[in-house]
Amino acid sequence: MAAGSASSSITPDFIAAVRERLGTQEIPHFIGGEFVRGVRGETFDTLDPSTNRPLARVSRGFAEDVNRAANAAHQAFATWRRLAPKARRAHLIRIATVLEKHGDELATIECLDAGQVINVVRAQIARAAENFTFYAEYAERAMDGRTYPVGHEWLNYTVRVPVGPCGIITPWNSPLMLATWRIAPALATGNTVILKPAEWSPLTAWKLAQIVQEADLPPGVFNVVQGFGEEAGAPLVAHPKVPLITFTGETTTGTIVTKNAADQLKRVSLELGGKSPSVIFDDADLDRALDGTVFQIFSLNGERCTANSRVLIQESIFDAFVSRLEARTRAVTVGHPLDPDTEVGPLIHTEHCARVLEYLEIGRHEGATLVAGGHRVGTEGNYVSPTLFTGTNAMRIAQEEIFGPVLVAIPFTDEADALAKANDVKYGLAAYIWTRDIARAHRMALGMEAGMTWLNSHNVRHLPTPFGGVKMSGTHREGGEYAFEFYTEMKNVAVPLGNHPIPQFGKK
Ligand code: NAD
Repeated sequence: MAAGSASSSITPDFIAAVRERLGTQEIPHFIGGEFVRGVRGETFDTLDPSTNRPLARVSRGFAEDVNRAANAAHQAFATWRRLAPKARRAHLIRIATVLEKHGDELATIECLDAGQVINVVRAQIARAAENFTFYAEYAERAMDGRTYPVGHEWLNYTVRVPVGPCGIITPWNSPLMLATWRIAPALATGNTVILKPAEWSPLTAWKLAQIVQEADLPPGVFNVVQGFGEEAGAPLVAHPKVPLITFTGETTTGTIVTKNAADQLKRVSLELGGKSPSVIFDDADLDRALDGTVFQIFSLNGERCTANSRVLIQESIFDAFVSRLEARTRAVTVGHPLDPDTEVGPLIHTEHCARVLEYLEIGRHEGATLVAGGHRVGTEGNYVSPTLFTGTNAMRIAQEEIFGPVLVAIPFTDEADALAKANDVKYGLAAYIWTRDIARAHRMALGMEAGMTWLNSHNVRHLPTPFGGVKMSGTHREGGEYAFEFYTEMKNVAVPLGNHPIPQFGKK
């Protein structure tokens, strides 16, 4: 599918110029404030998912590169942590300003590299800048502690200190936005960063490094090592100078990262997969429930951790609601990511596309009814039609994360049945409840085994709120002030306010 013109500023000439820049150089690592090729000199290609043709050649990182980056981050930590919070705040605001200035280029690169559609990417770029301004404002308050007076004799107080060089490992679905969401609080609290972006969408990390350099961040405070999970990600997890790892990706990888980090008792935050339900009761505003559910599965090409990939519908409205879902699913516009009319773009990679297509086969074989979609679109690229099945909650397509534009509709009888089915899955990231019965909505929210529940809404995220999952969807909460619990160590200081008695061992 051909790229249209995304907006007045992203013209076909602009897109061609970006492509040209990407295609005519090796995309390097960023270590100690410099763009450097890998120690071993090896590279890998990142592909344009709309054609599967190479988009850029990228330096392939290994343990040697991670070691250089960890040393640079370790060295920079000594001064960055001592910088006045006000100065760190100014740095973060500068990054946001420069990031916004390069918004069109970032958006174009993200569309070309990750296959995400321009309207979504534009919002994500804005959010990426906002992540920096948001945490910039917190920089001066992040280290606040509490005091614990003990009568008139003692005062205890707590202070927060940065942890050290943070390893940030990110997935390919929303590369820039997800990375900045971790980088900003880490930097705000005086840590330094080594980012290892996903190998299927590495390019906006490189552009972010350019932005950070233009914003004059001191060398070594932010570093990027490109490469594959086992070659560059695993050495980062294992590196003794990196005490903290924040990992966003698949649940199986998260368990490997946890095991590998255990030897050094590293602090590890995991944001993992999901199989989130949208639960629709017969008294809901069904027009809004339809809009929310369709958006929440097909936006980001279905490659969304908080996608409602299961829709649980009350029996009394099941058939009618499924036919409305069918009509909307068939009408979703599949196209090139840079075409502003596109709603669903290509899946990230041929391997992932094959995996999603395999799930369509699995669904058919296990007896699910294919209602809409269920096939590839076009002859080149990784386009898959938005797909709707009806089935049961026990089916693999209802239990396993497909991470593509595939929705499974499942009937339920009453509130108890809805709650049981919603929770009968190993994941627990998000949930969406649609009902006009306020008490029931809150009962459901309290009963839901999910880190985040939206009532009568799709995923609208407010930065101060905690983000994260339960069960196999993750371990920590990031976002807002919750991030500071992860990116700082809390220390207690005890001060006697007089001559309290000290046991006098050895004094005869
Ligand atoms: P993935 O687990 O394959 O890879 C994620 C990152 O981990 C990549 O950078 C990869 O190179 C790296 N990696 C792989 N093996 C590693 C190892 N042994 N040690 C260290 N790093 C390693 O995930 P993905 O396919 O890139 O992303 C899709 C997954 O991410 C989905 O499951 C999705 O739900 C999840 N996700 C979760 C959230 C959330 O906030 N909960 C957000 C976005 C995506």
